[in-house]
Amino acid sequence: MHDFRYVNGRLHCEGVSIASLAKQHGTPLYVYSSKTLADHFTKLSNALAPLDHLICFAMKSNSNLGVLRTLADLESGFDTVSGGEIQRAIAAGGNPKKCVFAGVGKTAEEIAFALRKGIYCFNVESEAELERINRIAGKLKKIAPIAIRVNPNVDAKTHKKITTGTYENKFGIAIEKIPALYARAAKLKHIRLRGLQMHIGSQLTQIKPFADAVRKIAPLAVKLKAKHGIEFISIGGGLGIMYEDALVSGKAEWWNSKEAKNILTPEKYAATLVPLLQPLGLKVLLEPGRFISGNAGILVTNVEYVKRTGKKYFAIVDAAMNDLLRPAFYESYHEIVPVKQSKARPVNTDVVGGICETGDTFCKNRPIPRVAEGDLVAILSAGAYGFVMASTYNTRPLPAEVLVKGKESALVRKRQKIKKIWEEEATAPWQK
Ligand SMILES: *Cc1c(COP(=O)(O)O)cnc(C)c1O
Repeated sequence: MHDFRYVNGRLHCEGVSIASLAKQHGTPLYVYSSKTLADHFTKLSNALAPLDHLICFAMKSNSNLGVLRTLADLESGFDTVSGGEIQRAIAAGGNPKKCVFAGVGKTAEEIAFALRKGIYCFNVESEAELERINRIAGKLKKIAPIAIRVNPNVDAKTHKKITTGTYENKFGIAIEKIPALYARAAKLKHIRLRGLQMHIGSQLTQIKPFADAVRKIAPLAVKLKAKHGIEFISIGGGLGIMYEDALVSGKAEWWNSKEAKNILTPEKYAATLVPLLQPLGLKVLLEPGRFISGNAGILVTNVEYVKRTGKKYFAIVDAAMNDLLRPAFYESYHEIVPVKQSKARPVNTDVVGGICETGDTFCKNRPIPRVAEGDLVAILSAGAYGFVMASTYNTRPLPAEVLVKGKESALVRKRQKIKKIWEEEATAPWQK
């Protein structure tokens, strides 16, 4: 479920009116629901209760400190992809011993930092990286816990920019090469073989690719356990969410809805995967990002102008692709709803930002109740890969973020001050 719904015709996040937040903090404004974050985390964790498991929230999907703390308080670990993310997780109160460090490009500084903090595991993506980690661990007189990312060569059948589990892309190591690599790694003095890891892609809405991949790597995991004493298998993240019909007025339990019958629920995910994983006798790690944060956030924006050109009807809003990149980058769908429930006749509308790029479009020809200048609209399911991908393109400040809990709300990131955007720049000395 999520906790964005109309109450007396006004969109609310839990017990707080969205219009009141917009009035207090301005727009564009990200609003996150603590209850939704917690609910998604707990549902997944409960579904996996038969397994000894650790959920490491993929913080690249949403790394706001308030969001991270909400999850850290539920004993979540964190899947991190940079030294910066490890620092951020710690700053939010996360436990580095529950952090895994992924990514194909880990620098020496990042590796040393992660070792000093005592992270749970490095997810290794290449032989060169393995050797680098061994070398740095040696220098620091530490033993680096590692898992190698296996590429199971399974097509996740998701968007081409977010599929990662086939030999066509840069991630992981081919399954055929894994046993030899573990044998080599076992000889490295400062390496401890702790697990085996995979992640096949993002926004998966069917169980089959997950099941195929787990079936493919399970025998390998068993062998590695016997030979090298690995203690965990990580099945990555990638659980998809509903972007369409994410908000049907008053209907909170969206995944029990008719529209949701084709979506992967935690129960379906667990029903298929638990029986495959349980016999392995390994701890199971998961790295969900979008599943936890996606429907837990919205982007609230103000209609600046309406414009009619020929047959088209445009609503030009004060959010733009710099605030929420997904539609421009992945052509992704986000539901857009008026903050004040409207009985106006739906008009085929293009909701667009003000940036000089045709890609700066949140939706095209979408039937939306007619909006007018000064109306607030909410772009839904913006909690994952939303703010974290925001930029200051066009010298537009980063938007503010609010976290709601029940009737309370807190500004968990101030709107950036315009002058801060070029604070770290300077003119050159010869430009008197
Ligand atoms: C991005 C990523 C995730 C999280 O993906 P979601 O689709 O948000 O669940 C998990 N693991 C790895 C290695 C990733 O790169």
